[in-house]
Amino acid sequence: MKTTLRTDITVRDICDGFVYNELEGKGLFGLSGKLVIQPEYQRNYIYADGKKDVAVIESVLNQYPLGLIYFNKVNDNLLEVLDGQQRITSLGRFVTGKFAIKDNNGMQQYFSGLASDLQERILETRLLIYECEGTESEIKEWFKTINIAGVPLNTQELLNAVYSGPFVTLCREEFSNSQNANIQKWNAYISGTVNRQDFLERALEWVSRGEVEKYMSLHRFDTNINEINSYFNSVIDWISAVFIDVESEMRGLEWGRLYETYHRKPYNPQEVSAKVRELYSDPYIKNRKGVFEYILGGMQDSKLLEVRVFDEATKKKVYAQQTEEAKAQGISNCPHCAMGHEANRSKIWKLSEMDADHVAAWSKGGATDINNCQMLCKTHNRAKGNK
Ligand SMILES: [Zn+2]
Repeated sequence: MKTTLRTDITVRDICDGFVYNELEGKGLFGLSGKLVIQPEYQRNYIYADGKKDVAVIESVLNQYPLGLIYFNKVNDNLLEVLDGQQRITSLGRFVTGKFAIKDNNGMQQYFSGLASDLQERILETRLLIYECEGTESEIKEWFKTINIAGVPLNTQELLNAVYSGPFVTLCREEFSNSQNANIQKWNAYISGTVNRQDFLERALEWVSRGEVEKYMSLHRFDTNINEINSYFNSVIDWISAVFIDVESEMRGLEWGRLYETYHRKPYNPQEVSAKVRELYSDPYIKNRKGVFEYILGGMQDSKLLEVRVFDEATKKKVYAQQTEEAKAQGISNCPHCAMGHEANRSKIWKLSEMDADHVAAWSKGGATDINNCQMLCKTHNRAKGNK
């Protein structure tokens, strides 16, 4: 790969013909139309947070270095931004009046409101740019290894770069588009954000059964996304049909795997809903995220719920101590029986007739350790558990 360092390009040059699409969150062109700011392997603009974009402008005004910018030279009349899209888009958006910075008096200032010497200082700033020429694979391999200052590319952003093409472009229009009206619905089940590619990542993971790279490579030049679209929607529709209530713990579960494992089994959504309610109100259940798979699997695998229990050694020790004290006082070794008026008031229960109980309820922060353990007869333990 051949690289040439250029120091002759100014912010004014870059911003000539700058086009930014607010709806799609894409910086598009600059440098009199010769520069493509967001080729398809680039990620969405994520600097528009009033901090990172402002910091870029303040750096320029203070004449701090902005760092290296890399262009890919496609031909003599076409350059693409390899690294620096976020910085260039911030400059272009500021110069075209899309956001303001605070001046020394704390007043909001748009570019047009800046003193002309400050405007000139920005426009005349020269950028440090490497122009790279090489094969597509060389450039993509290299792009894969660089980090954009402050916000490293995540896995999916890298994969989008490596497998760029019509398929990724179409996928991003569907799954990485903040204007997509379905996002709110997806958000109930999938964690992450649109512009960091989290929805696209899940859609790919689901349809490929975890073999994302292979799938992206195979479909790289596809001109439709019908398969990933319909698979993704099947999963989402299945979740919302089986679980009629949306709980925050549903967000980020392995829905692709759950769909594959359970979507052929019939469920009664009303019964499922009642079961979810019941399990959610059980104070001994530590892992609410496990409730959904537990129900899907026919309520067999209670390990999923991480139910808090006392171990056998603790139970035996507490039983022995309680029983010894009860015998000395001539009362029942179940403290609730001992306070009652019925025949069990002085009954000594066997260990197998008793269950361990949290003195301070787990739901109120009571720990599952020996100091918070008491043995109750099974009847009283059940009565307490149902409260
Ligand atoms: Zn009792």
